Amino acid sequence: MTDTTALTDESGRAQEPLRLAVTLDDPFMWRGAGFPPGYDPEIVLGMLCDAFERHRVPQVYAFTSTAPVEDHPEWLAALDRWTDRGHHVAAHTHSHASLNWTDAASYVADLDRNLDILEPWLAKAPTRYFRYAFDMWGDIRDKTDHVQTHLVRRGLLPAPITHWFYDVQFLVAYLRTLVTGDTEAAAWVRRGFVETAVDALRNQAAAAREVFGRQPPHIALIHGTPIAADAYADVLAAYAAAGVQFVTLEEAMSDPANQIAPPTVTRYFRNSTQKWAEHAGVGVADTPPRILNQVQHCCPVEGMTEADLLGPALVAAAQAVGSAPVTTDLDWNPAADA
Ligand SMILES: [Zn+2]
Repeated sequence: MTDTTALTDESGRAQEPLRLAVTLDDPFMWRGAGFPPGYDPEIVLGMLCDAFERHRVPQVYAFTSTAPVEDHPEWLAALDRWTDRGHHVAAHTHSHASLNWTDAASYVADLDRNLDILEPWLAKAPTRYFRYAFDMWGDIRDKTDHVQTHLVRRGLLPAPITHWFYDVQFLVAYLRTLVTGDTEAAAWVRRGFVETAVDALRNQAAAAREVFGRQPPHIALIHGTPIAADAYADVLAAYAAAGVQFVTLEEAMSDPANQIAPPTVTRYFRNSTQKWAEHAGVGVADTPPRILNQVQHCCPVEGMTEADLLGPALVAAAQAVGSAPVTTDLDWNPAADA
């Protein structure tokens, strides 16, 4: 963690609050990596709506991949409850494959399938947003251009992520603590989840300030998972204590730093802040965070490694677009500690 907090610059002078738009991805989780007993989209979204209300987080967009509703069509009703409580729905592809893994035509066909399912909720949102699966905009510029052109045709604005904290890596360990009933380990995972969120925001905000010479509003990512249901309220409280002011995605997207795509083509798992930092030759401290080395080894259970729990979802996503996953693209774990 750097010394640069959200509220002070290098001189220690107080700054404007750091503006943060919270966004949610994958409220149905993923085909091949679904919900454990005791959780479903209705429960998770309900708990998240309570947390957003408590911390006055406005109008959260849920970027929703839809392959899981092929098996659970009844889950779509959870989106009605979500929009009834003042939040919005956005597009995120049907199958959640990376654009790297397929050709642009297959990717946009999969996206159109997502739009067909989500249209009743997209039509209610103030803005028609889309997010690339894994925030991967494609490994070849031509593919990105093809998809971006399709987004214009379909009236969709791509929303990047500028702040993430590897919440799905914490989820994997948390699922193991739920299966074993290890409440002490579960509490450790939730604590690390909260601390890592705030550290990651500070580190990514510090990089953004160095790149842009000012602090643009940030766009945070959380996934619709059991650990988010159980611990994201604490993350929001910690963000607020660190000086965050929650804003709408529209406000964050009005800033050029979020509206102009970073001029970096990469096939790796990088958010927009990381791509801008790479372009500017600026480092992003502790990203991915070293604590993930401990998280990976927390509460080991046979058959419940990250590869066991997430691998089938990656294969299913890639197969749906006629391909296979390139798992080396997903370099979301830090180098192993020496
Ligand atoms: Zn996603």
